[in-house]
Amino acid sequence: MPLYEFVCQACGSPFEKLLSFSQADQPQTCPRCGDVHSRRKLSTFAVGGGTPSPTAARPASSPFT
Ligand SMILES: [Zn+2]
Repeated sequence: MPLYEFVCQACGSPFEKLLSFSQADQPQTCPRCGDVHSRRKLSTFAVGGGTPSPTAARPASSPFT
């Protein structure tokens, strides 16, 4: 699952959560103040807009083979 960054709208505290794509569109509870009005920042997955390269997702060499 991708790691998403959020910023609490109430206290301004940034926090990160591992979420599925469907969960990422929903407001997340701030771990500091408990407010649900958080705002998602652009993650590294969202920057660039393209689909991830299939070669980048697979390591060139695996220690298990
Ligand atoms: Zn907060």
